[in-house]
Amino acid sequence: MADSVRPYRPNYLSHMDRKRFLTRTLQAAAGVALAPAVLRSAPSGTGGLLFAQAPLPYPFEALEPHIDTLTMQIHYGKHHAAYVKNANEALAAEAVPATTAEQLFGTIGGVSAKLRNNAGGAWNHDLFWSGMAPGKGGEPGGTVADALAGAFGSVQKFKEAFTDAAMKRFGSGWAWLVLQEGKLAIGSTPNQDNPLMEVSDLKGRPLLGLDVWEHAYYLKYQNKRNEYVAAWWNLVNWDSVAARLG
Ligand code: MN
Repeated sequence: MADSVRPYRPNYLSHMDRKRFLTRTLQAAAGVALAPAVLRSAPSGTGGLLFAQAPLPYPFEALEPHIDTLTMQIHYGKHHAAYVKNANEALAAEAVPATTAEQLFGTIGGVSAKLRNNAGGAWNHDLFWSGMAPGKGGEPGGTVADALAGAFGSVQKFKEAFTDAAMKRFGSGWAWLVLQEGKLAIGSTPNQDNPLMEVSDLKGRPLLGLDVWEHAYYLKYQNKRNEYVAAWWNLVNWDSVAARLG
């Protein structure tokens, strides 16, 4: 499983997937068949968007020694899980018409801070987990290497520029590699914003994202964000970057 290449899948559910997800979740929770009335009680007036936390594509301990097991357990099991739960709470409360995460992010300036922060957190972490894989780090090959060299001079120069963006993001946020109208670009966003959000200074299709919130590294690295970023390069799943690059 650790060596498998997982296709990139958005971590939101379509309307029909949502019904199946709700059915499965509620059946699992209650141990009983779901009465149709339960589905009809879902919030009306919304586009049916519901976030779901994708399974972690590897065991918690798989990223050792670069990212420690306890950090992974808390980060995935507590932080990410809470973003998903709170995003869905906010979606239910705010009757947002979006049917996809991309639509939601495209109109994110009009929703609550709770929805913006938690929907970003729900989506960003799914990309973060799938952007890492044990044994995948090191140098990219083929299309990705060529694209990075073409845009930034060399893969090494790309890594330096991306690391710089990660280090210069003050406080909590993310560093990104994005595809911007056919061109690769590097930047960062604060909090749980991402480059799909209309309010973001950095815009584009995210290809790779690095979480630089202290919760992502503090247990092992404390204040040494630079050591965390350096270690993270050993985990980058270049196959996922290639898949997103398309
Ligand atoms: Mn995080």
